[in-house]
Amino acid sequence: RSPVSFASISRLSTASDKIPASQPARLPNLIGGDFVDSNAKDWIDVINPATQEVVSQVPLTTKDEFKAAIESAKKAFPQWRSTPVTTRQRIMFKLQELIRSNMDKLALNITTEQGKTLKDAQGDVFRGLEVVEHACGMASLQMGEYVANVANGIDTYSIREPLGVCAGICPFNFPAMIPLWMFPIAVTCGNTFVLKPSEKDPGAAMILAELAMEAGLPKGVLNIVHGTNDVVNNICDDEDIKAISFVGSNTAGMHIYSRAAAKGKRVQSNMGAKNHAVVLPDANVDATLNSLVAAGFGAAGQRCMALSTAVFVGGSEPWEDELVKRARKLKISAGIEPDTDLGPVITKQAKDRICRLIQSGIDSGARVVLDGRDVVVPKYENGNFVGPTILADVSSDMECYNEEIFGPVLLLMKAETLEEAIDIVNRNKYGNGASIFTTSGVSARKFHTDIEAGQVGINVPIPVPLPFFSFTGAKASFAGDLNFYGKAGVQFFTQIKTITQQWKDSPSQGVSLAMPTSQ
Ligand code: NAD
Repeated sequence: RSPVSFASISRLSTASDKIPASQPARLPNLIGGDFVDSNAKDWIDVINPATQEVVSQVPLTTKDEFKAAIESAKKAFPQWRSTPVTTRQRIMFKLQELIRSNMDKLALNITTEQGKTLKDAQGDVFRGLEVVEHACGMASLQMGEYVANVANGIDTYSIREPLGVCAGICPFNFPAMIPLWMFPIAVTCGNTFVLKPSEKDPGAAMILAELAMEAGLPKGVLNIVHGTNDVVNNICDDEDIKAISFVGSNTAGMHIYSRAAAKGKRVQSNMGAKNHAVVLPDANVDATLNSLVAAGFGAAGQRCMALSTAVFVGGSEPWEDELVKRARKLKISAGIEPDTDLGPVITKQAKDRICRLIQSGIDSGARVVLDGRDVVVPKYENGNFVGPTILADVSSDMECYNEEIFGPVLLLMKAETLEEAIDIVNRNKYGNGASIFTTSGVSARKFHTDIEAGQVGINVPIPVPLPFFSFTGAKASFAGDLNFYGKAGVQFFTQIKTITQQWKDSPSQGVSLAMPTSQ
């Protein structure tokens, strides 16, 4: 079987049904501006989760190929860092235009490989596109500071310089947005980049890289290596990589954080979540129900910002019938089908794990309000579908509560007071996001002051912040100190250099060995 070039894959990705199942396309790496076929012995199937068809195959990149990618990023760095920031910005202007005009192609690829609905896939691309738009203003974002005359005839200024070669390691759930959280900021700051897409759905990252080069990104500035643990460990250990952006599970994230930090690298590691909604009895009923259903079951619960637990002050019973009614109306099918609300989950193993956690909740005393485990989807009987599931009377000692389920499962809990609800949320190990639904400003203010979470929603089901703010995370949901995009994102991909200059025309005052001060 001969490897095919990425250009042909990219055409095929708009019509994956044309790939004969017996001969899936093999994805190349991107090294030094060329899509290079891999010599890997082992390949991983990229599987359409609605049909089980093999869409393509990704290589377990060899050590030599990995080294070649790093070398090309290293080689491209000196010229790229001295390219004017306005030139770098113009490439981002062009990239945002190309992403817009390729939106449908990107969305179709995401739906095919990841499973989410086409509309949701467009949202995935759009939320990444906004980061590219933000990077178009890098000249202002990266500006330094200046204080004149800190001492007689002496000025101090600071500049933010790129780090060198940086790397990004991506999860499966946002195949376009997460790569776009990473490389546009990194490269527009003047770094070069090595991206490792999720092996489960690498197609969108490949299309984005192709567009970035069409936009004018010079050869070697963006590279792609595929694979799993070995290539990730190579990234952690490599002496030339200065910083790693990671998004994914806690197991991988903490491993990468500690292994890379031991090599002196900066790491920003966004990890798992168990996001809570706290619902007060005075909340707007219709808006709250719609938010819980949308954020509980959207993308089949495979969003790190999904609302997976609702804590009702006063108990969930008055809300349950209406929640079930709205959840039952959702259409479960392949993301490609019109009007689908919920697509499949990513793998058979993910489905089994979700079903196991639902059962463990039931076994430990949770009450089933809606059970989506036995859903059968006509035309897609082989898909990894789980229907919306609601468990009530959940308590904080249950496994289904302590584990991130990452499926369309909403847990209902009870608290007597707002204080107790906040306490429940704060005792959970994760701290990605939390929302309150209330018409009381006093309660909302108490909530946002006392809650331990990165993203806080007030009558909003935890929003992903726009790129001029930062996406953050508290407790086990984040490791590192500089968050993704916003001011912190630029700080992550740059280091400060502080320059003190003296241009004096006064006569020499002789040698003084005392500590210089500005007194
Ligand atoms: P994952 O951790 O399985 O995979 C993420 C990346 O790490 C992949 O590229 C994978 O190849 C690599 N990887 C996995 N295991 C590894 C190991 N043992 N050693 C080295 N590398 C390894 O995550 P996923 O299942 O793709 O994504 C889902 C997770 O991502 C969820 O936990 C979700 O909450 C989280 N997530 C978090 C955010 C956030 O911003 N906090 C956003 C999206 C997703």
